[in-house]
Amino acid sequence: MAKLKTNTRLSKRVQTIKPSGIRRFFDLASKMDNIISLGVGEPDFVTPWNVREASISSLERGFTAYSANAGIIELRKEISAYMQRRFATSYDPETEILVTVGASEAIDIGMRAILDEGDEVIIVEPSFVSYVPLVQMAGGVPVAVGTNRHDDFKVSASQIEAAITDRTKALMLCFPNNPTGATMTGEEMKEIAAVVERHDLLVFSDEIYAELSYDEKPVSFASLPNMKERTILISGFSKSFAMTGWRLGFVLASPDLLAAMLKLHQYSLMCAPTMAQYGALEALKSGMDDLERMKQSYKQRRNYIVKSFTEIGLPCHKPGGAFYAFPSIEKTGLTSEQFAEKLLLEERVAVVPGHVFGEGGEGHIRCSYATSMDNLEQSVERIDRLLKTLL
Ligand code: PMP
Repeated sequence: MAKLKTNTRLSKRVQTIKPSGIRRFFDLASKMDNIISLGVGEPDFVTPWNVREASISSLERGFTAYSANAGIIELRKEISAYMQRRFATSYDPETEILVTVGASEAIDIGMRAILDEGDEVIIVEPSFVSYVPLVQMAGGVPVAVGTNRHDDFKVSASQIEAAITDRTKALMLCFPNNPTGATMTGEEMKEIAAVVERHDLLVFSDEIYAELSYDEKPVSFASLPNMKERTILISGFSKSFAMTGWRLGFVLASPDLLAAMLKLHQYSLMCAPTMAQYGALEALKSGMDDLERMKQSYKQRRNYIVKSFTEIGLPCHKPGGAFYAFPSIEKTGLTSEQFAEKLLLEERVAVVPGHVFGEGGEGHIRCSYATSMDNLEQSVERIDRLLKTLL
C-alpha cells in the first residue's frame, strides 16, 4: 500500500491558519551570532524570588495533584480582591473566575464558548497575533478595524460601528496594546461601550498589560456602566509579574459565560498547573512592590527609546503602556518585512515587522524594550547606521 500522505488528512480549518509571522523571523535570528533582540514580547526580569519560593514550598508540601477545575479557591478569592482593589471590578470567586493556562487559553476558550460558524468578531488592529487564528479555529470570521499612529493607535466608536454587521457577535479590545503600546482613557472607552450596548455585542477585553500603564491609571472595560455582563475580561501573570513560563492567566465573566468556558477548560486541560497557582497566589499577596519596581524600570526604558528614536529621525508614537515601541519606517520606502530583514542581516538587531500584526501595522516595526539599557543603546546606534544608508 502507498505510504500515507499525512498532509492530506488535515482539517480545512487548520489549513487556513497561517504560521506566525513572528516565528519565521526568530528562526532566522536564532541561527546567527551576536544578535540583539528587541523581538520577544516578554519581561527581561526573572520571576521575583518570593513567588518562586511559594511554588517550591507547595511542591515540598506535596501539592502535586490536580486542583479544582476552576483553580484553587484561595487564588480565585485573591484574584477577586486584587481586581476589586486595582480595577474596581466585582467578581464572585465561585462562579465568575476561572484560572487558565495563560491568557492564551482564556482567549481560546472564550472564542469557542461564544462563536458559531460564520459569527464575526471585530478585532482592533494592529493586534496580538493569536486573535485572528483563535477566532478562525472557533469557526468565526475575524473582521479587522485598523488604527494608525496619527490617532495614537486609538480606535473610535464610529470606526467600530462602521464594521458591525448582522453577524457581529463580539469585539476584541486590548489596551494597553500589543504591538503599539497604545492606551485608551475611560471616557474614550465609554463611547465604545455605548456602541456595544446599542448593537448588543459581547466584548473581549484583553487587559494583560493593564498593570504596565505608565501615564494614566488604567480603566477596566468591565468597570464601565452596564459592561460587566457583556465583557469577557482576560488577564494574567505573564507580563505584570514576569511569569511567562509559568503559563498562568485568568478569565472573568458572568456565570453563564464562565460556565461555558469552564466546560471547555475542564475537558481539554482539567486545570492550570497546581504549583504555578501557588506561585501566583503569592504574587498577588506580596508581589506589588516588585511589580512597581519592574514597572518603573520599563517606564524609564520607554522614555529612553521614544526619545532616541525621535532623535535619529524615526517617528514614534509615545506608548502609554506594555513594553513595545512601534516606530514608523515608512520614509525608508521599504516594507516592514524588508526593513526588519535588512536590520537583522546587516546590523544584527531583531525586531518584528509590523505587518504581522494586521491592519495598520505595515510601515512600522515592533521593538520590545524589555531588554537591558546597554542593548537598547546599541540597538539605537545600529538602527541609526542602517537608516543613514537608506535615506
Ligand atoms: N494577550 C496579549 C496582548 C499578549 O501580548 C500575550 C503574550 N504575548 C498574551 C495575551 C498571552 O499571554 P500568556 O502568556 O498569559 O498566555
